[in-house]
Amino acid sequence: MRPARALIDLEALRHNYRLARARHGGRAFAVVKANAYGHGAVECAQALAAEADGFAVAFVDEALQLRAAGITQPILLLEGVFDADELDEVVRHELWMVVHHELQIEMIKGRQLAAPLHVWLKVNSGMNRAGFLPDMVRTAWQRLHDTGKVSDISLITHFARADEPDATTTAEQIAAFDAGTRDLPGLRSLANSSAILGWPAAYRDWGRPGILLYGADPMPEDNHGLRPVMTLESQIIAVREIPAGAPLGYGGRFVAKAPTRVGLVAMGYADGYPRSAPEGTPVAVDGSLTRLIGRVSMDMLTVDLTGLPGCGIGSRVELWGRQVSVNRIATGVGTISYELLCNVKRVRFEYLG
Ligand SMILES: *Cc1c(COP(=O)(O)O)cnc(C)c1O
Repeated sequence: MRPARALIDLEALRHNYRLARARHGGRAFAVVKANAYGHGAVECAQALAAEADGFAVAFVDEALQLRAAGITQPILLLEGVFDADELDEVVRHELWMVVHHELQIEMIKGRQLAAPLHVWLKVNSGMNRAGFLPDMVRTAWQRLHDTGKVSDISLITHFARADEPDATTTAEQIAAFDAGTRDLPGLRSLANSSAILGWPAAYRDWGRPGILLYGADPMPEDNHGLRPVMTLESQIIAVREIPAGAPLGYGGRFVAKAPTRVGLVAMGYADGYPRSAPEGTPVAVDGSLTRLIGRVSMDMLTVDLTGLPGCGIGSRVELWGRQVSVNRIATGVGTISYELLCNVKRVRFEYLG
């Protein structure tokens, strides 16, 4: 069997959820959209089912998958609905939904519903992506209320730069949210992972930790005690010595400066390991750090075993996990951990704990 696999540590997931919830206070939606950032939404939600206050996903289909798997907690749809038909599913499965746009209010107004909705009215406090501007929130709130089809109106906003400890915009967004919602009743939710870690002024009734659940710290200082949930690993499947001057792999991008012992690893960009990873990207082989050499191909990549004479065929290779942080790999290829984690595919998923 091909040894490429993603090991998912569900105990680490629970640890990270507890840490987020305790730090924020109140309640916390575990954000499991996009297949739990590539970790498996059903498995992750079930692992948290005994303790999570609620879950958040992007859209109805993601929520239905959790309901089908027996998840009974509130599930919040962060993008709300795309058409009026979906409101029937929202009611049937007792989902909570964000309302971020005028059209969604119109859909609610125009639909016969079997039960009232719990709506989270989205405030555009400065990100300018979705939601109602602070001075329009009161009107939107009233219009929602006047539909007669809404039992609860909670209030939500999202930060553009909470992962930047020195940015002044997060405090400005909090102030804008507070100004726009001052006299309105209802629950509040402001903080995503980076706000939970860096912005206590954003703590309200519900936190919304996403990436931190998976143990990838979104703040520049990675010192919050998170535990990586995914280990992307494989094995050395062949070893060869190449002489000085020999090219390695596609494009001959790497040329050995000295005799080099090359380990071939069953992992490639079709598994989600980034093709853009440069030579020198860290890789751990049987616990020792070494480097990627040559281009990443679709199914394979190559690592330098010259300094690791004890390693050979069958040696365990960690591409990211506890030893090699996914943040380090992401930085090296100009992206964020979120994208790398969401892209993992084709490998076997194995769940621990
Ligand atoms: C994805 C998302 C989150 C979670 O963000 P993280 O940075 O992963 O913690 C929270 N709120 C909204 C609205 C989101 O779309």
